[in-house]
Amino acid sequence: MLHRYDVLVVGAGGSGLMSALYASKNKNVSVAVVSKLYPTRSHTGAAQGGVGAALGNVQEDHWEWHMYDTVKGGDYLTDQDAAEVFAKDVIEAVYELEHLGLPFSRLPSGKIAQRKFGGHTREFGKAPVERACYAVDRTGHMILQTLYQQSVKAGVTFFNEYQVLDLILEDGRCAGIVAYELASGELHVFQAKAVILASGGYGRVFRVTSNALSLTGDLMSVAYRRGLPLEDMEFYQFHPTGIAKMGILITEGARGEGGILRNSEGERFMERYAPSIKDLAPRDMVSRAIYMEIREGRGLGKDKDYIHLDLTHLPREVIEGKLPDITDFARTYLGVDPVKEPIPTQPTAHYAMGGIPTTIDGQVIQDAQGRTVEGLYAAGEVACVSLHGANRLGTNSLGDLIVFGRRAGVAAARYAAAAGFPEVPGDAAGAAQAEVDRLKASKGSESPAAIRKELQATMMDNVSVFRTEETLSREVEVLAELRERYQKVAVTDQGLRYNTELMEAVELGYLLDVAEATTHSALNRKESRGAHAREDYPERDDANWLKHSLAFSRGGKVELCYKPVVLGRFEPKPRVY
Ligand SMILES: Cc1cc2nc3c(=O)[nH]c(=O)nc-3n(C[C@H](O)[C@H](O)[C@H](O)COP(=O)(O)OP(=O)(O)OC[C@H]3O[C@@H](n4cnc5c(N)ncnc54)[C@H](O)[C@@H]3O)c2cc1C
Repeated sequence: MLHRYDVLVVGAGGSGLMSALYASKNKNVSVAVVSKLYPTRSHTGAAQGGVGAALGNVQEDHWEWHMYDTVKGGDYLTDQDAAEVFAKDVIEAVYELEHLGLPFSRLPSGKIAQRKFGGHTREFGKAPVERACYAVDRTGHMILQTLYQQSVKAGVTFFNEYQVLDLILEDGRCAGIVAYELASGELHVFQAKAVILASGGYGRVFRVTSNALSLTGDLMSVAYRRGLPLEDMEFYQFHPTGIAKMGILITEGARGEGGILRNSEGERFMERYAPSIKDLAPRDMVSRAIYMEIREGRGLGKDKDYIHLDLTHLPREVIEGKLPDITDFARTYLGVDPVKEPIPTQPTAHYAMGGIPTTIDGQVIQDAQGRTVEGLYAAGEVACVSLHGANRLGTNSLGDLIVFGRRAGVAAARYAAAAGFPEVPGDAAGAAQAEVDRLKASKGSESPAAIRKELQATMMDNVSVFRTEETLSREVEVLAELRERYQKVAVTDQGLRYNTELMEAVELGYLLDVAEATTHSALNRKESRGAHAREDYPERDDANWLKHSLAFSRGGKVELCYKPVVLGRFEPKPRVY
């Protein structure tokens, strides 16, 4: 079946909905969203802690301070043009969400409430500042609901439970996508003047993760298979406080409200690692500190492999009133009452700083020279506009979605309004159909679940918070072997309706691709920066490595090249907190 829209958005999370809403403001274009999930089930809905913007409602604040924190938090790999646009625009974007009906928590004055978060400071690093705007600990849920309602109102068409399997690229221009309708097993071709990729992250490549089951790096992989690069994939963030063993997130907002991390001796160990901002240091530093404590035998539990997040000194009203969901999580999943006992937590795979490279208007970049792909845009966690550099600050992802989702939507609609429809070849669905047929017809002996389990376990061990040449080389070998096994994967369900086994097998292929780009990029970067901590190269090396990596898949091999970082206002300095 063939569909035609001027602007087509893949993904209905915060970035997809924001771009669809803004594209639809251009009355000359038709806009559709294709999403494998029902929109309000997107992972944005799980975001807890807040969206950072220098509103200055609690203490004085300025966009320059926010920009500085973002660049320093990113260990100077952040492109400063993106950081400047971001820190300025996110203020207006938050007010806009308020006007669209988002029920933010309030100060007694009636203004949007704000709280502290890791790495957000006043006066260029002097002391933590309240910058995170929040709706208790359900900020993402509120963003998603608000944007979905507004998109429906604006007349955006939704194709829900359609899984995109391919991108149609003809003569260097994007002409549309191919999607599999989950309810019928039918393939659909969508012809579009402009396509915006907004399909989220890939946390499911790791065993312990805060990410939803659906986060399998789909469109990163599809773009990579179609010859486009993936940028800065070695920078994957581990959030310090996942529920021990399970990975379910306990928001950094808990520390923003005054929570403290303690080791088995009850010591507030962050005082040693980040003397000035302690528990509110950026996530890469806190996750490393936790692993150091565990390694030195100061972990808790039978295996001494977790630490405590202690909220017990906070008033019950703060815990239950400002952090209701995570209080419930601790009670439900651990049987621990945070009002009375500390919460067992450990680092959990959380956020991809890397992704499909884009300009600040969301146009997808195809090479180290910065050439763009006509008609193709990306925004949100799938994209890498280089805002987060080597380490994202908490609350800067939701800000990224609304600022760069909006910019991508506006730019795509402007382009589509002036462009004609590109040609779509008659066999556009051919490659996707062949892959579906191959998986269904396979008589192989491998189960997708077994391969996925091994992938997640080895990535967790070898491409974790700390890495070395040895662990990364080992993972390169594991991945080559898993790829071979993937060729022999068999799917037992031959049905057409909601064949989740088939789609999970497809998603496993995506996970293998993004794992490959991540591991090879990490092996090649011989320095430590942000979330990429190489024990064999412990120092940051600006002379050789102040550059972005681009990983390409060429003839079954990974090829890496590099492009410069956009510097500006803030010169790289040692990162002390
Ligand atoms: C538990 C948790 C808490 C967080 N808390 C915060 C926070 O407080 N503050 C903050 O700034 N950040 C937070 N983050 C990070 C932030 O929420 C995410 O980075 C962000 O929401 C990602 O949004 P997105 O629009 O890029 O993608 P998502 O919201 O993940 O949406 C992806 C969309 O793509 C669609 N999709 C994917 N693959 C396909 C395909 N093949 N075909 C069709 N559709 C597809 C899905 O259906 C979905 O609609 C948190 C993340 C997690 C996991």
